[in-house]
Amino acid sequence: MSKTVRHILSLSGGKDSAALAIYMRDRVPQMEYIFHDTERELPETYEYLSRLEAYLGKPIHKTRPDYSFDKWLEVFGGMIPSSHRRWCTKLLKLNPFEDYIGDDRVVNYVGLRADEEREGYISHKANIRTVYPFREDGKGIEDIIQILEDSGLGLPTFTKWGRTRSGCYFCFFQQKIEWVRLKETHPDLFEKAKAYEYANKKNGNAFYWSGDEPLEELEKPERVAEIKKKWEVGRAARLKGNSDKLVQILGGADPEDEERVGCLICQI
Ligand code: SF4
Repeated sequence: MSKTVRHILSLSGGKDSAALAIYMRDRVPQMEYIFHDTERELPETYEYLSRLEAYLGKPIHKTRPDYSFDKWLEVFGGMIPSSHRRWCTKLLKLNPFEDYIGDDRVVNYVGLRADEEREGYISHKANIRTVYPFREDGKGIEDIIQILEDSGLGLPTFTKWGRTRSGCYFCFFQQKIEWVRLKETHPDLFEKAKAYEYANKKNGNAFYWSGDEPLEELEKPERVAEIKKKWEVGRAARLKGNSDKLVQILGGADPEDEERVGCLICQI
C-alpha cells in the first residue's frame, strides 16, 4: 500500500472527463490518467485519447479486464448486457479500476458538471474519495466546450458522425438514431453488434441491444427512414422550444440523450 495519497482521473473517451483532465493538468501535476479499455471501444475513442495524451504530456494508463468481453459473455450464457443486466460496467470498468488502485488511498476525480443531475456506477471503496471539481467550481456545458476548444482538442471525434456518448460500440445506452449512424459509419462494427444478439441462439434465445427491436429489423431501409424522420422532427422541436439547449445540440450533446442515464465510468 502506498503511503502517499494518489490522485487519479478516469477517462471515458467522452467530453467531460477529457475537459476535466485538461482543467486539472496544471492544478494537480501528480495526477494519474487512466482509461478502462473494454477492447470494444470505437476507433475514434483511441484516436481522441492519443491526442489528449499528447496534450497532457503524460501517458494514459490503459487497464484491461481479467477476461475479455467475449469470455464474460460465455459465462453469462450469451446474455448480452442491458440496462437491467448491466454486468459489463462492473466487470470491464469498475473491477479493473479497483484492481489498479488496490488498497492505496486515492482521490478520484469525476467530471460531473454543475448543470447536470445524474448518478451512476462509481466505486464506493473506503480508500477512495471521489471529488467533482466541475460541480465545486460551478462549470457547466458551455465551460466544458470552451475548455476543449481552447486546448485545441475539441469535442470527441465520434461526435462528428453523430454519436453522443463514449463507450463500447454496442453500448445499449445508444439511441436508435445512433445505431443508424453506427451502421453508416462503421458497418463492420454494426455487423459485430448484430452477431452478439444471437450469441445464445443455440438455447433458443436472443437478446437485443436496442430494447426489444433486433438490429436486423432496425437496419431495414424503411425503418432507418422512419428513425431519421422522427429524430429530425424531434430535433427541430427542441431547437425551437428550447433555445438555451442550443449549445448542447450544436456541441453534439443532444439534450434528450443527456437525460438517458449512462455509466459515469463509461460515458462521462
Ligand atoms: S459503455 Fe455501455 S456496454 Fe460498454 S461497459 Fe459501459 S455500459 Fe457496458
